[in-house]
Amino acid sequence: MMTLPSAAFVTEVGPRDGLQSAGTEISTQQKIGLVDALSATGVQRIEVTSFVHPKLVPSMADAEEVMRSIHRREGVIYQALVPNLRGAERAIAAGADELNVVLSATESFNQRNLNMSVAQSVENYAQINAMARSTGLRAEVGMSVVFGCPYERAVSEAQVLEVIERTVDAGAEEVLLADTIGVANPRAVQSLVAQVRARWPTLTIGLHFHDTRGLGLANLLAGFQLGVSRFDASVGGIGACPFAPGATGNICTEDAVHMLELIGVQSGVDLELLIECARLVEAMVQQPIPSRLARAGRAQRVLQRSEASTP
Ligand code: ZN
Repeated sequence: MMTLPSAAFVTEVGPRDGLQSAGTEISTQQKIGLVDALSATGVQRIEVTSFVHPKLVPSMADAEEVMRSIHRREGVIYQALVPNLRGAERAIAAGADELNVVLSATESFNQRNLNMSVAQSVENYAQINAMARSTGLRAEVGMSVVFGCPYERAVSEAQVLEVIERTVDAGAEEVLLADTIGVANPRAVQSLVAQVRARWPTLTIGLHFHDTRGLGLANLLAGFQLGVSRFDASVGGIGACPFAPGATGNICTEDAVHMLELIGVQSGVDLELLIECARLVEAMVQQPIPSRLARAGRAQRVLQRSEASTP
């Protein structure tokens, strides 16, 4: 028998992780429209945008306008990704509810992605965390390449635990473990989660998977079986151009919520509204999306229909 958390906490990352590299020009109004539509679905948290340098990621140059123009719904946390202090200042000024401060489990990825050492990133995080707290906000840590790195290949658990320790020392209360390149497997997930749990029982763990090799939901379930109820997912399964060879889309929010619903984990998310959002995304990116549920519909509908139509 599986012992599972009774409820899930869903962070919808489609507007940021998903659209960041959609390959299609997405207007500011479209982004705002998507966040507003997602706000009505019941997801607990939305990663609205990213306050990276506009020269590095031109598609996120409208971060301020998006953050200021969305229609906020009571109870939804509107989060912003920030890579450094300057980004954190911009995000706070624009009204973000919460900051997701990214750093990496490896030096190489941190250098390439953030142009600084892991030590500098941790130091930055400590400052951002202090700044956020002084304005009543939370700053969590989003840790990249936890299960493997495109430059350093395999990443040891000892290395991940060491970087987590540094962020916890810097004040982190929530750490998101991200499988940035989609190389995790359920056994690796359970092994790492068990060790993090054992060392920091009060630390909130979140999971961020990419479905690059079709293991996204299996990895998510592996985490849930160890009591992790917090995860990131992207509406429609978009992210990092899923149409290119070596596709690296995020796990799909509606597919994940559907699975959880079937196994008795409440997420509070209205699946029909979420599927409508997936169709909105499909129209925005002008390409087929990886979502299974948008194509096939819920299992429950099929089962109920066949029951009713069978003589
Ligand atoms: Zn991602």
